[in-house]
Amino acid sequence: MGAETHCPYCALQCAMTLTATDAASAPSTTEVASPPVTVAGRDFPTNRGGLCKKGWTSAELLASPSRLTAPLVRGSDGSLRETTWEAALDLVADRLRGIRSEHGADAVGVFGGGGLTNEKAYLLGKFARLALGTSRIDYNGRYCMSSAAAAGNRAFGVDRGLPFPLADLDDGTTILLLGTNVAETMPPFIGHLAGAQAAGGLIVVDPRRTATARLTDDGQGLHVQPAPGTDLMLLLGLAHVVIAERLADEDYVAARTTGFAALRRSVAQWWPERVQSVTGVPAATIRAIARRLAAGGRTFILTGRGVEQHVDGTDTATAAINLALLLGLPGRPGSGYGTLTGQGNGQGGREHGQKCDQLPGYRKITDPAARAHVARVWGVDAADIPGPGLPAIELLGSLGRPDGVRALLVHGSNLVVSSPNVADVRRGIERLELLVVCDFVLSETAALADVVLPVLQWAEEEGTMTNLEGRVIRRRRALAPPADARDELWILHELARRLGSTARFDTDPEAVFEELRLASEGGIADYSGIDYALLDSGAEAYWPFPRGGDGTPRLFAERFHHDDGLARLVAVTPRGGARPVPSPDELTLITGRLLEHYQSGAQTRRVPELLDAQPEARAAIHPATAARLGIADDEPVEVANDRGTVRCRARLTTDIRTDAVFLPFHYGDEQAANLLTSDAADPISSMPEFKSNLVRVTRLVEA
Ligand code: SF4
Repeated sequence: MGAETHCPYCALQCAMTLTATDAASAPSTTEVASPPVTVAGRDFPTNRGGLCKKGWTSAELLASPSRLTAPLVRGSDGSLRETTWEAALDLVADRLRGIRSEHGADAVGVFGGGGLTNEKAYLLGKFARLALGTSRIDYNGRYCMSSAAAAGNRAFGVDRGLPFPLADLDDGTTILLLGTNVAETMPPFIGHLAGAQAAGGLIVVDPRRTATARLTDDGQGLHVQPAPGTDLMLLLGLAHVVIAERLADEDYVAARTTGFAALRRSVAQWWPERVQSVTGVPAATIRAIARRLAAGGRTFILTGRGVEQHVDGTDTATAAINLALLLGLPGRPGSGYGTLTGQGNGQGGREHGQKCDQLPGYRKITDPAARAHVARVWGVDAADIPGPGLPAIELLGSLGRPDGVRALLVHGSNLVVSSPNVADVRRGIERLELLVVCDFVLSETAALADVVLPVLQWAEEEGTMTNLEGRVIRRRRALAPPADARDELWILHELARRLGSTARFDTDPEAVFEELRLASEGGIADYSGIDYALLDSGAEAYWPFPRGGDGTPRLFAERFHHDDGLARLVAVTPRGGARPVPSPDELTLITGRLLEHYQSGAQTRRVPELLDAQPEARAAIHPATAARLGIADDEPVEVANDRGTVRCRARLTTDIRTDAVFLPFHYGDEQAANLLTSDAADPISSMPEFKSNLVRVTRLVEA
């Protein structure tokens, strides 16, 4: 029998069984090694045995020739050279000690990732605060879930992506998908949309006619294509119709929410004809959507990065929550609101202390009671835990500055591809005195490092992940790692020891999880009732799961998590200047994902089958726009603005609006879409603006 585990990629965490092959015990001598395990889909409530292309090919990387198998240190000639673990760790510890004693603890920064196991995310937060003594820790989830998380905390007092099991969608009769392309990002998900499709109730809001939007063809729903960056106005218009036509669930609003009067006043000015003039969505369509949502069936509203990755992302997600609350959906059996977490452990990654303002259990780092609890578990004084640090953009903006971060440790993130305004991040990295990257391939970020530490891949490690439903699951080891790759738990242990920390840094994942349980106990994300034995028994484990109690598959049935038990309707209005207005020679750049690649592409671009299918970035442009710009299909183009230039080929398609251009963000160097994105951030969540940046597209005239 093989190892029962889950996919290494997205937050659907599809279940799979890995079975060792002969190649597992016989190291390959050929350039393209055979995978040491076979992958088979396994029945599980999220994927029901299905896997996407990425999942099926996930074992390819285990024996890939691009796998790192020894520590690398940059030599005096500027090249990376293999060294021993002793030498690499001694060097890192020496340099960290020197920088810290000269410039203070906050001169050292840590950048984590939403793909790390819960155990690694937890230990990384503890390592930063106790072994390094720095407040400067944040992670790439800041680019992913921060605005929806802030909106959920504001409205409900808690942030769990889906506050109900995914299978609840199966019985949905109306599902509104806002800015999410699940048919490409997590294909097995669409099995859960079939009921709403059959009922003609699938409504997809996306400026592109994506694979998900095409599910509404043949009368199975509706696709609307608002102008990029106008999602907030569309949602205000929907709320306007719900209130104006008395479609709201008035009993629910009265009994379970506060803030209705202010919300009613704020949406009064967003009547459908006015919303049409801004979004381009016909007023009649806005009214029809509102009426369908309020028709009394089993209704869900789900948001994704398309509406969240904006400088008004928190307010936009809040407007979606307001709409759901007006309709009485959250907590109603068979209905609900949720946000679809993207990264594999995007949910758990934001609960255990990787965020600059949080401690384990989703506790606020500024809360004296939270600090005291975590300090007790860690065996230190609360005063020894540094206060809040800087969110990702500010942390990266400080790199190499006199009062900024001079040494950076990166775990599970390819930040010179995935960060906004990435040329500026690259310049910051060049100013650093020390860059240490833990990875299993030489990503674009690792290639710039002074020290690269090779780590395990998913099939080689034990641990837990928390999927998009808030369900905690086991990751299980299927094969031994290469001799010179190491678990990050061991790396943190060894570095902490060399730095003279007396805090406990276990190397056994189960021991770390046991400590995580204690640290999370009584917090919002309470894992104290979960242990490995429970997970190994196959029991479902949704947080909050208090010690001696049960898990919580469905939140909000009786109360929300604010002290008074009520949800907050929050009046939000568009901020002047939040939405860039294109001049006649500009298009709005939309960035996003392709079926074949995951996040920065550091992994999937190294899987031959996936790379062959999508080898390079292509700029998707409407044929009418291309004709105006004198661009033919497949021709080289430049997509540029004041921040940078992307050179790639054009792909002409009627799936995009005439005022927009789409670039996938999976590629590096001169094809990095984030050369063009802005590091202007949402003032509430620090979410950068990834989805509405202005660019000019021109035919590339080759010299
Ligand atoms: Fe993996 Fe996500 Fe594809 Fe499932 S949908 S196989 S979790 S990448």
